[in-house]
Amino acid sequence: MKKKGYISTDNFRVRALKVSLVFTYILCALISGVYLYLGAYLALSMIGLVTPFYLWAWILVKQGRTLTARVLFLVVLTAHLTAAILLFSTATGFHYYYFILPTTTGLFFNHNETRQRYFAGFFFLAALVLFLGFIHSNPPSYYTLTAQWENLLRISSGFMTMLTIFAGFTFIAHEILMSNRELFRLATQDPLTGIFNRREFFIRGENEIQRNTRYNTPLSLLMMDIDFFKRINDTFGHANGDRVLKQFVHTCQTQTRSSDIFARLGGEEFALLLPESGPEEARLTAERIRQEIEDQAVSSDSGGDIYITVSIGISAKTVKTPTLERMIHEADSALYLAKSMGRNRVVLTRA
Ligand code: GH3
Ligand code: MG
Ligand code: MG
Repeated sequence: MKKKGYISTDNFRVRALKVSLVFTYILCALISGVYLYLGAYLALSMIGLVTPFYLWAWILVKQGRTLTARVLFLVVLTAHLTAAILLFSTATGFHYYYFILPTTTGLFFNHNETRQRYFAGFFFLAALVLFLGFIHSNPPSYYTLTAQWENLLRISSGFMTMLTIFAGFTFIAHEILMSNRELFRLATQDPLTGIFNRREFFIRGENEIQRNTRYNTPLSLLMMDIDFFKRINDTFGHANGDRVLKQFVHTCQTQTRSSDIFARLGGEEFALLLPESGPEEARLTAERIRQEIEDQAVSSDSGGDIYITVSIGISAKTVKTPTLERMIHEADSALYLAKSMGRNRVVLTRA
């Protein structure tokens, strides 16, 4: 089963929020350890006060109130950073953590929505004002730290900020890649059977025709239509009709090569383009498919067996049928002939 949900942008924001919350918990725990070591008990108690709010944000996520959770998280994070800078001064480089905020606003808020765009703008501006404010005013430190500790904290602030920004952008890049893959799949696949849809068939078919014309290799087309399919639906129900379609595709796939272009053009009509196959080879393939389909039983959801047959029309690329359109037209005529001759048969036109 493919991973779902890359198209829904809110899923991606929720994932980003969850990762950020876990990351913040770990960071809080690490920093608490440092405070404890330094004997900075006021700072330690403040972190103890702030951490439950992150937990609250986590609970809100679980309750599905994700926008509130995102806003709460950023409010608490901003307050948390500000308190830490007031206690330890900018000498610790804690103000660099404000650089995380533009990354998180990019991750958390949907910029297509006015309200969320305002939130993003607000947090970005807040971070900017606070950063510049602290740089400008440089308030005295509540705690006196040794130069060595200040240096260590400054390095860690820069490092953690860089790491967060890097992780944020990597996350975004990954999400874009995954949603592009999902979009590609949705744009090219038939949702029921998983083979190419009509649109993709024409794109790939045109490419194949061009390649074929350049190298002058054989090319054949099969047009297949399940016989009396309406009757299958009427007798066994639409769900069983769908089962039959899936099974039909599966059976055809056992008779095709990976270079063949197999697509569902609509309803119970399928096209199979066979590169490197002349008309005789195509006829043999079609005959094998026809026979397999006739022989197999599709089990219905009520346990009974459903038998179907298929009619197949074939055309081959020749000087008279140099385009995909012409080939389809020819194969369609052959298919029509197969139907009128009593169905469950293969007809090959020789243009
Ligand atoms: P023929 O032998 O002449 O091809 O007869 P037929 O009944 O197969 O002909 P027709 O093309 O008129 O009927 C196709 C039917 O396929 C009609 C429609 O209800 C059904 N159908 C189209 N798409 C789907 C689908 O996605 N699922 C199911 N279960 N049925 C579908
Ligand atoms: Mg039919
Ligand atoms: Mg039909």
